[in-house]
Amino acid sequence: MTARIREFLKRRVDEGPCLVVDLDVVRDNYNSFAKALPDSKVFYAIKANPAPEILKLLVELGACFDVASVGETEAVLAAGATPDRISYGNPIKKESEIAAAYRLGVTLFAFDCEAEAEKIARAAPGSRVICRIHCDNAGADWPLSRKFGCEPAYAADILEFAHRQGLVPHGISFHVGSQQNNVAAWDRALASTAAIFRTCAERGINLSMVNLGGGFPAKYIRKTPKLESYGKAIFRSLRKHFGNAIPNTIIEPGRGLVGNAGMIEAEVVLIARRTREDEVRWVYLDIGKFHGLAETIDESIRYPIKTPKDRDEMAPCIVAGPTCDSVDVLYEKTPYPLPVSLAIGDKVLIEAAGAYTATYSSVGFNGFPPLRQYVI
Ligand SMILES: *Cc1c(COP(=O)(O)O)cnc(C)c1O
Repeated sequence: MTARIREFLKRRVDEGPCLVVDLDVVRDNYNSFAKALPDSKVFYAIKANPAPEILKLLVELGACFDVASVGETEAVLAAGATPDRISYGNPIKKESEIAAAYRLGVTLFAFDCEAEAEKIARAAPGSRVICRIHCDNAGADWPLSRKFGCEPAYAADILEFAHRQGLVPHGISFHVGSQQNNVAAWDRALASTAAIFRTCAERGINLSMVNLGGGFPAKYIRKTPKLESYGKAIFRSLRKHFGNAIPNTIIEPGRGLVGNAGMIEAEVVLIARRTREDEVRWVYLDIGKFHGLAETIDESIRYPIKTPKDRDEMAPCIVAGPTCDSVDVLYEKTPYPLPVSLAIGDKVLIEAAGAYTATYSSVGFNGFPPLRQYVI
């Protein structure tokens, strides 16, 4: 926890769970990316946390942005970014959305099939396009595989198709899966990418950019490699597959930029035993899957949960949210150790909750308001 967040929570008087994000940490993270991957431009994947204060800070720091919708495009422009700093990275768009983004000045779009190239050619003529390829997401705690990306062997064909539609084939993108624990995960995708670059060159199409996507981890409970190791491994793979002709690269961190910058303060609503001798207590918090902790689906993301009594004896608990939906259980398969002395009304801190929480919060399922967010 940062001293600034601690001070803020001490003075806080309102009720209910809230997320507090420290902009100083976002700034440090941005600088760490610039240092670990000095040749790659940062395009912040704003879906991780689109708070206007975060976008404004990143505009000031010189970042670019990966957006997935017209709404996200407008948010980035409202924060002061010019449209040349925007990549529309969602390969699934309505033609009307492409047209709206193009009217706002966006001229860089992702696609992964011929039908999408036709839409972009009609709605955003002459734009640069990046072909998203499918890649292995092994090693990721939150995989994104299968929904996006053509098979690498098909990419040159659809880039050539896009070229014939009057678009400018610009490069290749992929995503190795979010919270990627393996620093070498980029290697195979980069081998495929280099092969696509060669095939396209033979057909007279010169690609110039590789979008390395996100996947850079936040620190939850499990230890993760240092950002520096990711930078080194990626550079080694670029050298190996592209030799001396390393293309321009961009990265699209979401979680890695904001994950560890935020912390949720929540409260224990109830502690129950289901039988008199039950070893495992059910601990119900005032926040659950529907109000910010959606990434606990399948217990994929295991947040550090801190209490004021962590020096006391610990015992395993099932941790659940407050709603009347049985899906709203956070940790059960692997019970969570919490202090035996934990009591109803105690505050708990859910750390590293800056990414994919407030934006995932429902509008008000079961009458619980969306997760409140403070950016300090
Ligand atoms: C979500 C997303 C990202 C961000 O991924 P992280 O693992 O959070 O860094 C980057 N690029 C694209 C295209 C995405 O959809």
